[in-house]
Amino acid sequence: MLTKSKFLAGDVCPKRLWLSENRPELAAPASEAEKRRAEQGRTVTELAREYFPSGVLISAVDSSAAIAETKEAIANGATVLFEAAFSTSDVLARADIIEKTPAGWHLIEVKSSGSVKKEHLPDVAFQLYAAEEAGFRVSCASVMVVNKEFTRHSAVELFRLEDKTEEAQSLRRDIQQKVPALNMLLKEQNEPFVQIGSYCTADPGCEFKDYCWRNLPKDSVCTIPGLLWKKKEPLIERGIIDLRDIPADFSLNDRQRAYVKAVLSGKPQVDKKGIKEHLLALTYPIYFFDIETDACAIPRYDDIHPHQKFPFQFSCHILQEDGTIKHREFLHTEDSDPRPAFIDALLSTIGDTGSVVAYHASFEGSELTKLASASPEYAPRFQSIVGRLWDEEAIFLKHYTHPDFGGRTSIKVVLPVLVSGLSYKGLGIQDGDTASAAWNRMVTCRNPAKKERLAADLKEYCKLDTLAMVEIYRHLKQVI
Ligand code: SF4
Repeated sequence: MLTKSKFLAGDVCPKRLWLSENRPELAAPASEAEKRRAEQGRTVTELAREYFPSGVLISAVDSSAAIAETKEAIANGATVLFEAAFSTSDVLARADIIEKTPAGWHLIEVKSSGSVKKEHLPDVAFQLYAAEEAGFRVSCASVMVVNKEFTRHSAVELFRLEDKTEEAQSLRRDIQQKVPALNMLLKEQNEPFVQIGSYCTADPGCEFKDYCWRNLPKDSVCTIPGLLWKKKEPLIERGIIDLRDIPADFSLNDRQRAYVKAVLSGKPQVDKKGIKEHLLALTYPIYFFDIETDACAIPRYDDIHPHQKFPFQFSCHILQEDGTIKHREFLHTEDSDPRPAFIDALLSTIGDTGSVVAYHASFEGSELTKLASASPEYAPRFQSIVGRLWDEEAIFLKHYTHPDFGGRTSIKVVLPVLVSGLSYKGLGIQDGDTASAAWNRMVTCRNPAKKERLAADLKEYCKLDTLAMVEIYRHLKQVI
């Protein structure tokens, strides 16, 4: 029987539905970041329930038992139910919240995002369809999202409701038409054939991507940087998968052409003049600088909005003109607002002169600008740092590509290709999302040994980010 999550998977890609039903073991395990998002979703749902004090939770996990429990609760006069279950012969749904009103049932789906997204509409429409087919008179269908204006001391409510009845009703017919076919697909013996496409990588990405993409050649058309799916898909449909098979007259921009040339020749494409000019802007001392941030759906600190990022860690390698280098770092280890200590440490690390090198520097620029507006007394210092930011990634976006970059410019990809012996492999933490999840675990960890391990992993990860920038910088100096 089709549940909401199965319907949504099948609506995007039939193969995804079939695999989730028949070969779930092929799905990639949830990452730390995904686990944390799920945990935040649960927290948000629990808080949303507090807005309905008379609500009755349908606790049964088994669907038949949950349907019986729902009927019993309604028969006993419950007017608000959490996780109410309803089904027909085709579909099964559990609604986050349903509330009885004089006009009928108000169906509410709770989302931890700060706004209603277009992918929420089929979600709420499926619930509406299932509820109505099961005999519930639905008067209204809404999405309850976290209010981005909320702070702990504001008068603004944490949640806001958006009425999506009209949109959900307009999708109802579409859902009704799709349900029989998707139910049939669930019972198919054989895996359906679906060509890879934009749906594989659309946010948040498909859990079966590693499986479906396993036979793509290393230098597939999917590695061409910034090539839109509307240009990739026609190539794939024509069987042009390896970028070596792209027709000579296929339209590519300068960056894409340079990458294809690198792959075809097997040699890096280096614009030495461009790199030299970019490097000329650097002045000593050079601060190689990286920030780690976190964001929570429910704000942890005063004056923070839902989903607002805040920094909890930085690493900085300081390179002097004579070649000497020293390392400074900061990691907030307590379960308190990290920003005051972060600001102190940052301003005693980065001086008033010299370049500040970051990788994808717009991120550091935006975080420092936010700190400046939150702490006016330090604003001139922050503005000075932002004004001296120099983006190392820009070199790889404009002047340097390598066949082994796979069309990417991330520091995790560039580092091991250009600097032998240095890589993120083997680190306890290997990306920013995992760092945020680890930091959250660390600050609330009651086991000192485990806390120390997490802190060491975080420091090692962030330190490698700035050491990587130093080594890449040295490599660039040799190349020009
Ligand atoms: S990776 Fe793409 S083709 Fe495979 S199941 Fe997911 S969305 Fe479908």
